[in-house]
Amino acid sequence: MKFARFKKQKETSVLYGIATDSGIQQIEGDIFTGWNLTEKIYNVSDIQLLAPLTPKHVIGIGANYVAETNDLPSELPDIPVFFYKPISSVIGNGKAIVIPREVEEVKFESELAVVIGQRASNLSEEEVTESIFGYTIANDVTAPQYFHEDGHWMVGKSFDTFTPLGPYIETELDPDKVNVEAYLNGNKKQDSSTALMIFSMRKMIAYLSSVMTLEAGDIILTGSPLGAEMMKDGDEINCKIAGIGELRNSIKQS
Ligand code: MG
Repeated sequence: MKFARFKKQKETSVLYGIATDSGIQQIEGDIFTGWNLTEKIYNVSDIQLLAPLTPKHVIGIGANYVAETNDLPSELPDIPVFFYKPISSVIGNGKAIVIPREVEEVKFESELAVVIGQRASNLSEEEVTESIFGYTIANDVTAPQYFHEDGHWMVGKSFDTFTPLGPYIETELDPDKVNVEAYLNGNKKQDSSTALMIFSMRKMIAYLSSVMTLEAGDIILTGSPLGAEMMKDGDEINCKIAGIGELRNSIKQS
């Protein structure tokens, strides 16, 4: 099932729906705790898709892909490199990514994003699947010019518009059988299987849940594969995962 969050054109109220063959069918209620279908169906061209949820927290993992299976390390680091992204950096499909004034380029990072569906802590890898609501696409936009020389990434990850999410949350995706893709101005730049993750999705969520209680609405960005590049004013970036959809954003200088 594909969950959407949207507004009718020129209106301000935020609605939720399910993507169907005939359009977006509005739902009422809470996607995590209980909802009902309504009779209202909207044509996708008559609405504006928003980020498919307002996340509770957005957590990313650093440098989590190898180029090929042979490169996977035999031993994992004890502590993965995690970072937070602020909720204020989240935008939806179709919105512009804004380059900070002092720089001329920022990096795209197409990523599989996990949406947590219920409170969870101290999960085993086997228990992780039960805590997952679904999956969406994230673009973990990054201005590496703002990485601190001591290795702190937060500033470079945190500018407004730096976390496009969407277009939908897919609840039936098999996360082990998808490729994470990115197209810059139509040219393919990223296309890797999630099997090339260093910390598997389940391992990283189990680890996180040993540190902090995860909540419904938390989003975990699972890292970006080989091929992330810089983008500049006027570019268009399309992050794609078959089964979820395409997350398209333009780039503009502030
Ligand atoms: Mg990333």
